[in-house]
Amino acid sequence: MRFRGGHNVLLKGRPDSAIKVMPEPKVLYMPLRSERFTFSDIHVKDGQKVNGGDILAKDPDNYSVPMLAPRAGTVRLEAVENHIVIEDVAQREERADIVEEEMLHIEKEMGAGGIKRYKLLSLGAWQFFYDAFTGELPDPLGTPQAIIVSTLSLEPFLARGDVQLHRRLLNFTRGLEQLQSLLEYQPIYLAMPNITSEFANLIRNQIRGYAWVKMLEIPLKYPYDNFAVLARRLDLKAGKGPVWAVRTEGILAADRALTETKPCTVRILSIGGTGVNFPSHLKAIPGYPLKRIRDQHVFEPAARMLNGGILTGSILSEEAQGVDVECRGITVLPEHIDREFLGFVRPGWDRDSYSGCFLSSLRKDFRERMTTALRGEGRPCVACNYCDEVCPAGIMPYLIHKYLYADLIEEVEQARVDLCVECGLCSYVCPSKIDLRTQFVEAKDLIAKEKEEIRQEQLRQEEARKREEEARKQAEENNE
Ligand code: SF4
Ligand code: SF4
Repeated sequence: MRFRGGHNVLLKGRPDSAIKVMPEPKVLYMPLRSERFTFSDIHVKDGQKVNGGDILAKDPDNYSVPMLAPRAGTVRLEAVENHIVIEDVAQREERADIVEEEMLHIEKEMGAGGIKRYKLLSLGAWQFFYDAFTGELPDPLGTPQAIIVSTLSLEPFLARGDVQLHRRLLNFTRGLEQLQSLLEYQPIYLAMPNITSEFANLIRNQIRGYAWVKMLEIPLKYPYDNFAVLARRLDLKAGKGPVWAVRTEGILAADRALTETKPCTVRILSIGGTGVNFPSHLKAIPGYPLKRIRDQHVFEPAARMLNGGILTGSILSEEAQGVDVECRGITVLPEHIDREFLGFVRPGWDRDSYSGCFLSSLRKDFRERMTTALRGEGRPCVACNYCDEVCPAGIMPYLIHKYLYADLIEEVEQARVDLCVECGLCSYVCPSKIDLRTQFVEAKDLIAKEKEEIRQEQLRQEEARKREEEARKQAEENNE
């Protein structure tokens, strides 16, 4: 397997492997939106008492993936905009909110495999699954051509697989077995870091007996853990059916849902970055108040919080009150408000740069203390080619940027912007501070929208043609 591009992003604030259990909250704020889901189909009423594991809402556009109540409490629908609030939170035994009649019907129609898929979806495990090519939620009733399981998380500062696997290796292998029982002959690829450590060796030994698991040893370079990159490197073709992709936490959730028939409501999140006093991992539940996390972990009075890692995370808006159901980590960067003494000289002894233009290139590898500062001024592309060097998708980001600047959408499409895996590495290394990733995400959306409009127009024309044809035939019959 050959990789291209990539870069080892070294930054201070990496979460250590400790997992801190967050104290129980009194109120939960469940955001109705996350990266992929919009829970618009609300299943509870204002004032209703719920148990942990009850379905609060579903996303009708994503196979009705549910949002589960992580704890018992009283529902408030109007208290905070775009959130379901649970007050008087109590930790009672969770229950599986599954409908027996539906289960009987599914068993009759689809057998034991159908029941497993139903449980994965209704107990909250399916939301950890991705389509490797599109990043979307795959069809839970579909048949994949392969499954990619990744124990890696290479984007700073997201929750790491090795931390989540600690003391849960048995659950992990059981989860893999559960997944395998849904397949006929399709392979499961397990991506592992190509390092020698006691823990990595333990996993290798554990998996050795599973002939149906194919091991992939991955160099620790961002973004070689990206599912689209892995699928391409494995030579899997999108035309041959979906490739399911899932990380460590998804396999653990599958084990919980299928072995224990219990809802999957607990998350291991990371809290990292240079604005955090002790970067680590947190055991928390969706809806956990962000303010409490901030009060306990962020020491910088002025800090920017991101939902996700440093390269692909999005700024947590003022509106967001709680951890959303897809959150894998929170990154905190100090706001850069002070002017730097002799900043214009920029010797860069403490600045890491892909170009090696700072004095720091004389130092050995070190972790830079990143802030929100732009570190230089935005300027036009200087054709340095760094974005091309690091791009794992084999496209030319600077060329696509130039086409976009000139509004040449057809050329953008021909330059294969669709292959961009949105890793953000081009934006990170660009010395001109061009936010290439955002430009490409928007361009892909625009092209997809235009294609959909053309498809709809063709459908309309086809319908009109059929109607005319029928009217003509009818008129001929009447005349006869
Ligand atoms: S063009 Fe896309 S895939 Fe390539 S480095 Fe940039 S964000 Fe990543
Ligand atoms: S890294 Fe930035 S400046 Fe360099 S070629 Fe790419 S877009 Fe241009």
